[in-house]
Amino acid sequence: MIVVVGAGIAGLSVAYELSKAGADVTVLEANTIASGASGVATSYLEPRLGGTSIRAVEWEGLKRWPELADELLHETGKDIGLKCDGQLRVSLPENEDKFLKDIETRDEQGWTVERLTPQEAHEIEPSISNEISTAAFLPNVAWVNSAAVCAALADALQKRGMEVHENCAVEKIETSHLITSLGDKVHFDKLIICNGMGANAFVDFIPDMPVSRPVRGVNLIFDNSKLSMPVRHLIKHHRGNMCPRSLVNCDHLIVGTTYEPDEMSLEPDEDVIAKLLDNAIPVLPELQDMPLVKITVGLRTKVGDGNLRLGRSQKKPNVYFSLSHAGAGFLRAPVVAPEFAKFILEDECGKLTGFLTTG
Ligand SMILES: Cc1cc2nc3c(=O)[nH]c(=O)nc-3n(C[C@H](O)[C@H](O)[C@H](O)COP(=O)(O)OP(=O)(O)OC[C@H]3O[C@@H](n4cnc5c(N)ncnc54)[C@H](O)[C@@H]3O)c2cc1C
Repeated sequence: MIVVVGAGIAGLSVAYELSKAGADVTVLEANTIASGASGVATSYLEPRLGGTSIRAVEWEGLKRWPELADELLHETGKDIGLKCDGQLRVSLPENEDKFLKDIETRDEQGWTVERLTPQEAHEIEPSISNEISTAAFLPNVAWVNSAAVCAALADALQKRGMEVHENCAVEKIETSHLITSLGDKVHFDKLIICNGMGANAFVDFIPDMPVSRPVRGVNLIFDNSKLSMPVRHLIKHHRGNMCPRSLVNCDHLIVGTTYEPDEMSLEPDEDVIAKLLDNAIPVLPELQDMPLVKITVGLRTKVGDGNLRLGRSQKKPNVYFSLSHAGAGFLRAPVVAPEFAKFILEDECGKLTGFLTTG
């Protein structure tokens, strides 16, 4: 029996891959599915700049999402909201130098970038400001509905006969069993720690597990249907992004996102919200007069330099961890999950192979 702690994208995606490989998996979640960072992620799928090996993982992740979306639709009937509609990047005159440098770098790194006149940008997104002075379209960028992805993965697991328990926090870990908040004693052959910021609570039992630190992200949610022309693409500007999200009976526009290292509070101050608005309104002026539907907050987690940390404990050899997904847990999941699952099932030398060659 493999027990996975945490029903965010890290835990659910590796549990799903383990079950596909024939393993018997149970997921234990302290709250509800995707109640951590995974439920509030903007979840756009945009590899960062640079040519490091983790960038190769990100490009491969982007490439694999359509197949995963089809697979989950087939298994569960659930649409995960994958949109491969591209990203509109826009700039106001005062940020043009930085914008052009970014586009130049993308050209050098082989990105497909279509340069646009302000007029062409308006044809794509009519609600953007008339002050936009330059723009580009990145057709490769996509996005998913993060909560829908997690719901579909949990559903797929249950349809395969696996158990996903909500409101069941792991409170104590012993050598081959754990104790839950419900007082249950659960045996495991292998334990996979995927509980984001919650993992720090286990360092007494797993002394060589890296310690995570938070990077808070705040998003503002508006009613997209209230715009004279709702946003249909992911828009990126020099200080943030805007992402449409269709839900049952409503159409949201996510406006974000803050990047606040070491900030733990899930209740952002008014100045954080004001700053997000100040950054977004010059790009989408109608936001000025629109009521906020809600504010969402999540904690990305980073270990040390922020690199992904996947591995097995040397001190507790039946314990594995998947940590430090930072701001790319969704983008990388279609690569990380199958390769980590393979590692968990076949691990003999403690080294990851394939795309994930570092441990
Ligand atoms: C505002 C914001 C925007 C983002 N945008 C993007 C984006 O555009 N693209 C992208 O790829 N990524 C994005 N991310 C990052 C992404 O959300 C994370 O990388 C990812 O969600 C991390 O997943 P996780 O499963 O490791 O952690 P989490 O989603 O935090 O899941 C951990 C789970 O463990 C549970 N848990 C905690 N303690 C226990 C316990 N003791 N027992 C049982 N369960 C426990 C929690 O309740 C939680 O459900 C964004 C994040 C934020 C906050």
